[in-house]
Amino acid sequence: MVKEKIKLYGKFSQLQADLKVGNITINDLIKYYLSRIKEHAHLNAFLEVFEEEALQRAVEIQEKIENGTAGKLAGMIIGIKDNISYKGHKMTASSKILEGYKAVYSATVVERILAEDAIIIGRLNCDEFAMGASNETSYFGPVKNFADERKVSGGSSGGSAVAVQANLCYASLASDTGGSIRQPAAFCGVVGLKPTYARVSRYGVVAYASSFDQVGPITRSVEDAALILEVIAGQDAHDATSSSELVPEYSKNLHHTKKRRIAYIEETLHSEGLDPEIKSNILDQIKKLKHEGHTVEPVSFEYLDYVVATYYILTTAEASSNLARYDGVHYGYRSNESHDLMSTYKKSRSEGFGEEVKRRIMLGTFVLSAGYYDAYYSKAQKVRRLIKDKMDKILEDFDFIITPTTPTPAFNIGEQITDPVVMYLADIFTVGASLAGLPAISIPSGKNKAGLPLGMQIIGKRYKEVELLSFSTYFDHLNEDS
Ligand code: GLN
Repeated sequence: MVKEKIKLYGKFSQLQADLKVGNITINDLIKYYLSRIKEHAHLNAFLEVFEEEALQRAVEIQEKIENGTAGKLAGMIIGIKDNISYKGHKMTASSKILEGYKAVYSATVVERILAEDAIIIGRLNCDEFAMGASNETSYFGPVKNFADERKVSGGSSGGSAVAVQANLCYASLASDTGGSIRQPAAFCGVVGLKPTYARVSRYGVVAYASSFDQVGPITRSVEDAALILEVIAGQDAHDATSSSELVPEYSKNLHHTKKRRIAYIEETLHSEGLDPEIKSNILDQIKKLKHEGHTVEPVSFEYLDYVVATYYILTTAEASSNLARYDGVHYGYRSNESHDLMSTYKKSRSEGFGEEVKRRIMLGTFVLSAGYYDAYYSKAQKVRRLIKDKMDKILEDFDFIITPTTPTPAFNIGEQITDPVVMYLADIFTVGASLAGLPAISIPSGKNKAGLPLGMQIIGKRYKEVELLSFSTYFDHLNEDS
């Protein structure tokens, strides 16, 4: 009985109401998720489960609920991507090089969800250092898509998406540099939100490309994403780039009555490699929106062919610098073959990093090198500016930009991992918002004929997550009706 109930919660407010009147307990929830995690261990979503600790905290939080002192997230059982620090717990960024490392402090996002009484049930598999689009670069192996286990989960936050998709925890935290929240959310039929750059503190999150990285939620409903965002967002003295912009109560401001002006990017629909079912899915969404009285117009975005190249030049440059700290001395893995300082660096890094990470460090070092800096890095910075200006301009005339989240549905495990260029092109629709620093969400947009989930991306104005989330809930209802 209890089990059936837990399965059905699509919105946290319903779960909390049942907790309050005692229809279920936190202990029921934890036991339920622990057994689901065990039953679905083969999906490879969790790298570690904090079983004892979760059961202990359940007692604490239950007491708080009973005496009326519980926080906003009491009853929310959350998994965190393995690149988010949780004091005293292991964190590897799914890399061998961080083997044995334990976080010495907690990320601000972790502090904030704990302060509102969330329970962290474990850490979730991801691509190594969040570099990938299929979770196949993880040192711990790929995550399987719960809709079809032959398919990838998407990446880099594959574990975070599948954990929610397969109901192994209620919600998850993930990071998004160029699509790592949105793309796996699309592949798994769940909601994934990347906030405006600087909206959420990056303190305690393993740095991949610091001018892009953002933490955000993966959930079943837009409402839940709004609730988590309002807890984790806001300025943080530990992250100088975090914004002082006030944080609204997103979850209480989800009104969706206005008629909106929506742009769709013409080039995305003619883009080579766009799956025909995805194309017709987005055209259907456009039709529905028009039918509902919204203005939906095509716009031209002449930079679409350049976004992936620009993104990979800039992010690999930042990564090559961010990953310099993993040297066999400061953190984690040290090669047994090392006999002096230089061999410690060389051997530890050669043995500790996976192939994709090494490729990016080398590429990043190359684009930053004296002879090529102007031709690549500095040029890419300029193109980034053009892309940002163009997207801002579109958003002066329109409230939102919609695109498919991904050019294809989830592909087969092993199918694309051998060709990095093909893999990078999977990011074509998500990296634009990342280059521009804009908030973007992927919401479920039905399934294809083979039963694989599809996602639609909605990009909003800077710091206007309230509008973005409101509009997204509206879309959820439209989909439910059809
Ligand atoms: N697939 C992109 C990449 O490999 C995005 C990753 C991310 O957002 N962390 O860089």
